[in-house]
Amino acid sequence: MLKCKHVVAKADALVDGAPMTRRERFALRLHLLMCHHCRRYIRQLRALLSTLPRETDALDDARTQEVLDRLNIPQDR
Ligand SMILES: [Zn+2]
Repeated sequence: MLKCKHVVAKADALVDGAPMTRRERFALRLHLLMCHHCRRYIRQLRALLSTLPRETDALDDARTQEVLDRLNIPQDR
């Protein structure tokens, strides 16, 4: 069975849905079934990543200026 440190090392891949072998995915899921510490870690990592802006959410220049105007902040700061 995997140890917690192995789950932590693979956590990004698991959360991102990165390709991994069936054996790796099965071993991770089996560990998560039995280890509440790692389940909590993965849950917190997912929550954290969900708060970060995705690249597709990046503001274009016009939208950036609109936000800065609303906040009354000059763009050249
Ligand atoms: Zn664990």
